[in-house]
Amino acid sequence: MIPQRRFTPRSAEDMTEKLEKLIAANEALKNEIAQRIAAQERSDSIALISEENPNPVLRVTIQGHVLYANGPAKMLLEFWNIDIGDPLPDEWCRAVVEAEKKQTATERELLCHDSFFVLTLQPVVDADYVNLYGRDITKRKETEEQIVNFDDLTGLPNRALFQDRLKQVLGHARRTGKLVAVHLIDLDHFKDINDTMGHDAGDALLKGIGERLLGCVRTSDTVARIGGDEFGVIQVEPNNADSIAILAQKLLKSLEQPFKIDGHDVHSNASIGITIFPDDAEKPEEILRNADMALYHGKGENRGTYNFFVTKMNDEVQRRRAIEDDMRAGLERGEFVLHYQPKLHIRSNRITGMEALIRWNHPQQGFMSPAEFIPVAERSKLIVPIGEWVLREACARNKAWTDAGLGPIKVAVNLSAVQIHETDLTATVRGVLEETGLDASQLELEITESLAMRNAEATIELFTELSEFGVSVSIDDFGTGYSSLSYLKDFPIQRIKIDKAFIDDIGSDENPGAIARAVTTIGHSFGMEITAEGVETEDQLTFLHSLDCDEIQGYYFSRPLPEDQLGEFLKNFEETEAIRLSR
Ligand code: C2E
Ligand code: CA
Ligand code: CA
Repeated sequence: MIPQRRFTPRSAEDMTEKLEKLIAANEALKNEIAQRIAAQERSDSIALISEENPNPVLRVTIQGHVLYANGPAKMLLEFWNIDIGDPLPDEWCRAVVEAEKKQTATERELLCHDSFFVLTLQPVVDADYVNLYGRDITKRKETEEQIVNFDDLTGLPNRALFQDRLKQVLGHARRTGKLVAVHLIDLDHFKDINDTMGHDAGDALLKGIGERLLGCVRTSDTVARIGGDEFGVIQVEPNNADSIAILAQKLLKSLEQPFKIDGHDVHSNASIGITIFPDDAEKPEEILRNADMALYHGKGENRGTYNFFVTKMNDEVQRRRAIEDDMRAGLERGEFVLHYQPKLHIRSNRITGMEALIRWNHPQQGFMSPAEFIPVAERSKLIVPIGEWVLREACARNKAWTDAGLGPIKVAVNLSAVQIHETDLTATVRGVLEETGLDASQLELEITESLAMRNAEATIELFTELSEFGVSVSIDDFGTGYSSLSYLKDFPIQRIKIDKAFIDDIGSDENPGAIARAVTTIGHSFGMEITAEGVETEDQLTFLHSLDCDEIQGYYFSRPLPEDQLGEFLKNFEETEAIRLSR
């Protein structure tokens, strides 16, 4: 309605102006009334056919004002908070104008509470209105969501949905002041199961694990598969850290019983990293990152346990990153050196080999042990250039000693997982031998037992290639892994190095040196040579001699030496040996 106003005319022009305004207002009013009457008529006519339609039907003016809505469409009006005669929300008005202008039907989606609708905006030729026909597509959306948001194999939410849920849960927790815990669960040695038993078995295991985890939580919690062998649990509103730890224990315990797969008992241990909101982090990405850090930390220290995130881990990550940067620069500045530990061939009393061991001459921290920086290098893949440098340096040095008339002896180089699984090692080795001119028979590569077992097929293939052009391979730290010697006989390996732990055993009371004895006997029966690592006493040497063990390496004979001292050691040893033999 036009508001009534009192005014006092002051001049003839004034009067004319006011009069014009009045006439215009009157016109507008007439129009409005006419439109309403027309709307009522149209509404009556459309109502005849639409009232029984179970889907929403609307008719709106070409500007988007609602003329009519059938029963099911009332829900939409309520949702938009509008009535008959009111305009639709802005974006819908725009869509109506657009459809009318183009005179083509257009479709738009609408999420109304829990229901999904598609609304078809249908302009009508020569009419001054547009019809909207709705269809409920909630079911179809659910299936689509199922495909996009759920993991095919386990049927659990995938990473995307996990993150979505986490966001929602955090929003709620922020308002209510409650806690949220995220448990990140990573399977230990899952890759081994995949490698040794095949992917179907791996899949079956993942499915079984998902089911067991699901059995541990409340319905309000979320269990998701967020990576290959990684699961995540969102624990909603735990009372305190105790209830979080209790759930973590429960999750681990649920995986303890073996899984029956293809008639085999398959064991699967897991480690868990935990972050608590809001104590450790506020944002979803931070929460996941911290849980991951806690997980990593746990894996390094002891597998099969759960670990809460502590800020200290952040410092550790910083420290690791600093070492990484330093290491990269150190490699360029030539701060790495090799020490060589000579090995004594017991029967012939000759030096037949030496192991190259890397050292880092750090500008601030002095000589750093490989135990400190090799794991960092492995994680950051810096081990690839470092490993290649070690190989080239060791081969070049050995060639120089041979040329100087010392030896010929073999140099053994240690290899890391990344070098074996992610580089073309055969090509690298071949290239380095060509470049340095060292004879392939003077190079030996050491691979730890656990590493060789990790992907047995690939390892056998690699070893075969290497031995084909004359490089020998030895199994390092033997006895610390889980393999049996009979399994190893299929590997083309020339040497087994018994881990220091079993040499230390020689002095013990119970069954002294039993493992060293067994390994030597069986290894020999497969035609392999045996080296004892970490020999520190004469008693140990005597015992090993009695077993007919081939080589010893250890402080008793020599510590690892810098290259100039090793040269001297070789020369002196050859001379004294010559004296001894000539007597
Ligand atoms: P490893 O391959 O088992 O090397 C033998 C380790 O035992 C060496 O430690 C050596 O100094 C030490 N050792 C030798 N004899 C004795 C002994 O009688 N008593 C005692 N207590 N220890 C003895 P190091 O040099 O600290 O190397 C540690 C580990 O670092 C090596 O264990 C190896 O796994 C790794 N490593 C060293 N150099 C390289 C390298 O160039 N590349 C790679 N990937 N790893 C390396
Ligand atoms: Ca070694
Ligand atoms: Ca070793």
